[in-house]
Amino acid sequence: MTEKTMQIGIPRAMSYYHDYPFYYGFFKALGIEIILSDVTTKQTLSAGASLVVTETCLPIKVYVGHVLNLLDKGVDKILIPSIQSVAPKIYNCSKIRGLPDLIRNVVKRKFTIIEGTLDKSQKGQGFYSYLNEICSYYGITDENKIKSAATEGWKIYNNFMVMCKSGLSYPKALNYAKQGKIIIDSEEKNKPITVALISHGYNIYDDRTSMKIFDKLDKMDVKVLTALQLSDEQMLDGMNALGQHIYWANQKEMTGAAGHFMKDINVDGIITVTSFGCGPDSLMIETLIRKAKLFNKPMLNLTIDEQTGEAGFITRLEAFVDMLFRKKRAKLINNLDISAEEHKKPNLKNIETKVV
Ligand code: SF4
Repeated sequence: MTEKTMQIGIPRAMSYYHDYPFYYGFFKALGIEIILSDVTTKQTLSAGASLVVTETCLPIKVYVGHVLNLLDKGVDKILIPSIQSVAPKIYNCSKIRGLPDLIRNVVKRKFTIIEGTLDKSQKGQGFYSYLNEICSYYGITDENKIKSAATEGWKIYNNFMVMCKSGLSYPKALNYAKQGKIIIDSEEKNKPITVALISHGYNIYDDRTSMKIFDKLDKMDVKVLTALQLSDEQMLDGMNALGQHIYWANQKEMTGAAGHFMKDINVDGIITVTSFGCGPDSLMIETLIRKAKLFNKPMLNLTIDEQTGEAGFITRLEAFVDMLFRKKRAKLINNLDISAEEHKKPNLKNIETKVV
């Protein structure tokens, strides 16, 4: 095979934000060069949005833009997976399930879609069949070779997850994992306010769609926690705390993480970021708004689309953070008043009692 036939384009969108550490190790071990699309820009967004109907959710518009970007770079094979079901009776939304068909229908240019299907419900097609299907496009059929490449992929992925759980930022964890390093961030960043940021990775780790929300909150002196810092068990426990059952594949990172953080007394508030036009998220958010009231946890929902302006976004963030600061200050003053009153009372322990 020529150099170009051993290349794979990966759009820097959707599942990239979860799966890329694995693909990095996997394709490298197979000798397949990965070409990534460039970071999202205004141009990526408008190019993607121009090919789909207006009601389509923002992440899909971004995804289409990234496919176009790869084609402009001359990439002729692009990985566009169809992740139908990640576990028995747990499904993705129709747009994620039908992603290869969607792209085929809207991007009318000549290229090969490297299409793997993961369907653990109806077809019982697990992860290794998915990988075998992808490798078949490159004439790689040796299952042992594919399995040992997968081991390399898991190494990078696991290192990445360990670092994320330790609190290292997403870009740093990815960078170190690709270098084969594990750097644990032991510096506990003490900030006066802690919020849980609840969303899909593709909404918050893309600097363009999230409008650099991590930097903005950091400047406001807010510590941010996300689902990447939680284990599966913690998210499942969060689901139970909210009395929810899993149906959607990404429900753990939304509802499960939110449930976990609602129970955490060190978390001052919850911020959710959802995309306009997302069916599953709109259902989950309704539940979260009701449950947040029960847990007495302030919650802000930010909805994003390609028209979302940065000024309005910052204003809402600032207003929410300001409210959290005022609430915390009031609580502290209240506690101080109580302890001052306590101080005035005689210390009964120091009074000797004599029995006459
Ligand atoms: S889960 Fe929502 S945001 Fe994500 S692709 Fe589906 S509709 Fe779009």
